[in-house]
Amino acid sequence: MTHDSTRDPVAHHFPPAPRGPFKDVPGAQWRNWHWQLQHRVREVADLDALGFPLTADERRAAEATRSEFRVAITPYYAGLMDPDDPGCPVRLQALPRMGETEADSWDLVDPLAEERDMPVPGITHRYPDRVLFYISPDCAVFCRHCTRKRKVSDPATAANDDQIRGGIEYVRRHPEVRDVIVSGGDPLAFSDDRLEWILRDVRAIPHVEIIRVGTRVPVTMPHRITPETAAMLGRYHPLFVNTHFNHPKECTREAYEACRNLAEAGIPLGNPLVLLRGVNDDAEVVKRTNQLLLMMRVRPYYIYLCDLARGNRHFRTTYEKGLEIMRALRGWTSGLAVPYLVIDAPGGGGKVPILPNYVEERDDEKVVVRNFRGTRHVYYEPVDVKKS
Ligand SMILES: *Cc1c(COP(=O)(O)O)cnc(C)c1O
Ligand code: SF4
Repeated sequence: MTHDSTRDPVAHHFPPAPRGPFKDVPGAQWRNWHWQLQHRVREVADLDALGFPLTADERRAAEATRSEFRVAITPYYAGLMDPDDPGCPVRLQALPRMGETEADSWDLVDPLAEERDMPVPGITHRYPDRVLFYISPDCAVFCRHCTRKRKVSDPATAANDDQIRGGIEYVRRHPEVRDVIVSGGDPLAFSDDRLEWILRDVRAIPHVEIIRVGTRVPVTMPHRITPETAAMLGRYHPLFVNTHFNHPKECTREAYEACRNLAEAGIPLGNPLVLLRGVNDDAEVVKRTNQLLLMMRVRPYYIYLCDLARGNRHFRTTYEKGLEIMRALRGWTSGLAVPYLVIDAPGGGGKVPILPNYVEERDDEKVVVRNFRGTRHVYYEPVDVKKS
């Protein structure tokens, strides 16, 4: 299928990504994801040589966080960083800051207790009918707010073939598991062949109903999603992809095309967004992100309050801010752009939805609600139905 973007009615909302310091890279290389992976920024100081001025804080943080959590930024994602604005939302997600070295007493290495609920290495089995399957510590970009920074970016946590076989075997022996979430790190940091090997074996298990793949490459290295890769994923339907956009700046033409490739392979797309202070803790920013996602055929799935991972303190915002954002979405824009706000409960409690309260009054015969505009409405209940 060919795409004529001049006839695409929404493509103009998605400007081609600026290439910043990489503007002289030939297009064929730029679009080659192997080139993008190989040319990742691994040393923050290298940005200087590329004419990208670092702040003193970024420079210090690069040293101070070196042993905790590695830096990796694809040239593509680095091109989205604003050299003139230290508060640039992409820059904040990609470059370390000294805030990462500050911790509160309640901060945790493994905030969601994923290692505790791990019957075999790599499998977190918390909910009755689904498992999280950690297969790779590598990602195109290491997000500074990553909840799994305890292991992501550390090659020592790489799952070898035996461990992956062990995870698949666990699913095979547990008929209650009907949903397998293939995650990491980023499963698309693997070659198609290696990922396909895992998907094929998981799909061959009769009681597995759906497969999900969690990947941030549509955001951080969109050229990874070639039509061939999308078609490969589509061979294991019903298969869902969850990605991780956090800001309108990430919604580029390249990202749009990556999501289009997935959608055209029949893959339903979802987006968990993490509320990050300074990046997107703002109702207009979240609303626009979600509207852009819908044009990319990506359904907003969750909004998370940033978890208690050690090193995330400076990213966190408040419960009230979360509620304020939800109130600014409901009613004011498409219901499709209104996901659940959740706290992924520290200590492994799972995702708990938090909702603004729209119920103002309740008595024996009625519920009184206030709508998004603040007007009051009464809903009378049937009198002949017993209330619990
Ligand atoms: C988030 C998560 C899931 C999936 O939860 P859904 O609400 O079904 O998307 C499954 N297992 C673990 C451990 C998780 O953290
Ligand atoms: S892509 Fe996901 S797993 Fe990888 S660093 Fe970012 S948040 Fe963490």
